[in-house]
Amino acid sequence: MIHRKSREDIKRMRQAGHIVALVHQEMKRIIEPGISTKELDNIAYKIIKENRAWPTFLGYNGFPASICASVNEEVVHGIPHEDVILREGDIIAVDVGATYGGLVGDSAWTYPVGKVSEEIQRLLKATEEALFAGISQMYEGKILDDISGAIETVAQREKLGIVRQYGGHGVGRKMHEDPFLFNYKVGDKTTLKQGMAIAIEPMLNLGCDDVILQDDKWTVSTVDKRPSAHFEHSVLVTDNEPLILTQVIV
Ligand code: MG
Ligand code: MG
Repeated sequence: MIHRKSREDIKRMRQAGHIVALVHQEMKRIIEPGISTKELDNIAYKIIKENRAWPTFLGYNGFPASICASVNEEVVHGIPHEDVILREGDIIAVDVGATYGGLVGDSAWTYPVGKVSEEIQRLLKATEEALFAGISQMYEGKILDDISGAIETVAQREKLGIVRQYGGHGVGRKMHEDPFLFNYKVGDKTTLKQGMAIAIEPMLNLGCDDVILQDDKWTVSTVDKRPSAHFEHSVLVTDNEPLILTQVIV
């Protein structure tokens, strides 16, 4: 069952998304060698609470933090920790959720720590491009496979691995709603309709597709330990252009 959002829900989702975007603005500003992922988590928590929202991830299925912080070969769901100190040349994917007035915004971004290698720059650029290629398909009458295919095309062109076990999802009153969105074509002909909101989130790897769940039962890493990037926006299908919900309202 795919929910179509009411005007009031959309208003709240935009505010939730605005708060998520404020967190990302701050992450971009403060991420540098020497900072711990726990410090990032504390700052994210503070910004979300100051804006009268709730950090959606905190307590979600028992998750212990407000952000997911996934470093280098970690793909998603990394747990912030004071012992994880970022170093020059690392990358860190920060995934943030905020619930405002019962509605959720969900967005992830992968940040370079200081100067990163050329191949990592290529990974970041391509994964961001894949996200926007997916967003460019978010029009009424298109199908889910159009989004998946647009992402897959960028990944294949750049010869990047595509994470198969995780993907995008409907978002709204709950963080994870129907439909599930694969980051490669599976033949899903579900039609996009005005009022649908989907979190589009390509996860691409410099190496192979395969990932493994770590012993902490949260962190997902690449099997070959090569770096992985993750970019995500919550996006609404409108009667016109796709509306990115997880951006700062100016
Ligand atoms: Mg997310
Ligand atoms: Mg998501």
